[in-house]
Amino acid sequence: MRLRPHHLLCLPNFVGEGYDGAFCANMAEQKRRLAETGRITLIDGADEVCAACPNGRDGLCAFQDKVRRYDQAVCGILGLVTPFRYEAAELEKRVREEIFEAGRLEEICGDCEWFPLCRGLAEK
Ligand code: SF4
Repeated sequence: MRLRPHHLLCLPNFVGEGYDGAFCANMAEQKRRLAETGRITLIDGADEVCAACPNGRDGLCAFQDKVRRYDQAVCGILGLVTPFRYEAAELEKRVREEIFEAGRLEEICGDCEWFPLCRGLAEK
């Protein structure tokens, strides 16, 4: 499975809310795939989550600078590089412990429109 780094945070926090029906259906599918996959290849740029996003513009995000900043923050905190393949279980454990439980979500993506929802979920 190929993911841009900050989607390691978005997928576990997805509970059915999103931009539109197609986006939510794809998020649910990618969340299911994440639960089953053994390996994640972290990439730069658009991934399978972006594929159904209404903010996509010819393979780029309409908010490119912002989402790149989120990707870089995740990589900086966890010491990850792109492109590179990682064990999915290890990445999920580190996201949970070193970002969600450590209360570091806001410094990564506190200006995301979904942050108020994700903050509550990540703190549980
Ligand atoms: S606040 Fe935005 S970027 Fe952060 S985990 Fe939630 S949806 Fe993803």
